[in-house]
Amino acid sequence: MRIDVDRDKCEGLGMCESMAHEFFEVDDDDVMHVLDEQPAEEHRKVVTAAVNSCPVLALSLVD
Ligand code: SF4
Repeated sequence: MRIDVDRDKCEGLGMCESMAHEFFEVDDDDVMHVLDEQPAEEHRKVVTAAVNSCPVLALSLVD
C-alpha cells in the first residue's frame, strides 16, 4: 500500500500525525511530510485510521 497526499487540500492540521506519528510529521511551517510512503502491511490499521482522520480528505491509501 502507498500513502497518497493531495497537496492542494492538506492544510497541515496534524490530525494524521497525532494518529500515526511514525508515518506523518508536520513541520514548523505546517507542512506535512510522509515519513514512510509505503508502510508495511502490518501497519494498515493505524495508517488507515490516520488517513480517515484527515478533516479535509487530503489522504488516501492506494493498494
Ligand atoms: S490531517 Fe490532513 S490536513 Fe492535516 S496534516 Fe494530515 S493530511 Fe494534512
